Amino acid sequence: MAAYFGRRVTRSVFLQKKLWCKSENNAVRSIASLSSLSETHQMLQKTCRDFAEAELKPHAAKFDREHLYPKEQIKKMGELGLMAVEVPEEYGGTGLDALAYAIALEEISRGCASTGVIMSVNNSLYLGPVKYFGNKEQKEKFIPPFVTGDRVGCFALSEPGNGSDAGAASTIATATENGWKLNGTKSWITNGFEGEATVVMATTDKSMKHKGISAFLLPKPINGLSLGKKEDKLGIRASSTCSLIFEDCQVPKDSMLGKPGMGFKIAMMTLDSGRIGIAAQALGIAQASLDVAVDYATKREAFGAPLTKLQAIQFKLADMALQLESARLLTWRAAFLKDNNKPFTKEAAMAKLAASEAATFCAHQSIQILGGMGYVSDMPAERHYRDARITEIYEGTSEIQRLVIAGNLIKEYNV
Ligand SMILES: Cc1cc2nc3c(=O)[nH]c(=O)nc-3n(C[C@H](O)[C@H](O)[C@H](O)COP(=O)(O)OP(=O)(O)OC[C@H]3O[C@@H](n4cnc5c(N)ncnc54)[C@H](O)[C@@H]3O)c2cc1C
Repeated sequence: MAAYFGRRVTRSVFLQKKLWCKSENNAVRSIASLSSLSETHQMLQKTCRDFAEAELKPHAAKFDREHLYPKEQIKKMGELGLMAVEVPEEYGGTGLDALAYAIALEEISRGCASTGVIMSVNNSLYLGPVKYFGNKEQKEKFIPPFVTGDRVGCFALSEPGNGSDAGAASTIATATENGWKLNGTKSWITNGFEGEATVVMATTDKSMKHKGISAFLLPKPINGLSLGKKEDKLGIRASSTCSLIFEDCQVPKDSMLGKPGMGFKIAMMTLDSGRIGIAAQALGIAQASLDVAVDYATKREAFGAPLTKLQAIQFKLADMALQLESARLLTWRAAFLKDNNKPFTKEAAMAKLAASEAATFCAHQSIQILGGMGYVSDMPAERHYRDARITEIYEGTSEIQRLVIAGNLIKEYNV
């Protein structure tokens, strides 16, 4: 098995390639290099594709149907280094770049979009802020156990009363003699059931509005924190989503991540990176939809010829490929900018918007190409359609991405 996936070999080769990664990371790579991926990126892509084909695709329908958390697969992904792609090696991570992360997450999501979001939340929304904003003790305690696939983390920003308007957090952290006391409810938290640590945003100074929000880093379970019901979702049903309910949850002083009042900034920076991940997840769903459509259209005959001979079907396939590949370029571009320490807020929003709309479009067309077979669960097209929809909602809806893009665009004109 290990040899088949190149598991150990690949992981060790990734590690050997670190020197390459470091020197490449420091160099400003031109956008032209998007036309051919580096050897490391190609190898990672193949490893993830083989893994998804053998370990995720055959089980994705069952995971979805039975709401099964893919525990064994997440563990194997941890062994491959996929649960901490951008975390430095000193904390047990793989030490690769954002482009590697986007490539890996697309391939994993092509096999199973639920597994994709579990990977994405652990990598970008949990480990991301701990890596960037944690102090030495927090990093040592809260990173290494979460890189192996044995444990996953979560990120709690949204609340019942505010999702898009993240600055209006009503969860409160009150200073106590020994630290902080948290009260409030965080809703829609991915990995909420399995998560063994969480980043939580809570208001420490209401008078400062969004500048009064602070970030906290807590182990789970913890006294004073209970879970709401597991949400029954349209798609990505193998990943858990639930509320985190804080009732006089006493946490020590050193639970704060970053400085007081930095929570909103931490959340926004985390979401910039997270959007590259969700774009990659959407690309995986779009690609899987195209794969199913091409396969079916090649085999299914109508009027004495395969569907692929019909121009109407060819046009659909062309439009799917066009949207998918345009969105992939935008996603890789956002990752390149991040890897080169350039601003990427607008580009990550563009990537997420384009890729999520491509996923919805491709999944819709895929069902159409399959006809009746697209509408039943014997084929994966209907699951792709259900999975695609969330990518237009979480980590900022499509409307919010447009606001981010327009806001940055207008700033760039400097008028
Ligand atoms: C399955 C799932 C997993 C999730 N995982 C997480 C997680 O791990 N952590 C977390 O913190 N959150 C998570 N979320 C929450 C998610 O990020 C929010 O649902 C999302 O940000 C939208 O917020 P809302 O649902 O409150 O919608 P609302 O903010 O109420 O928006 C409703 C509608 O109004 C539109 N709208 C709102 N404001 C504007 C505006 N200014 N201009 C134009 N249109 C606007 C929106 O685009 C949307 O169409 C998850 C959600 C789901 C469904």
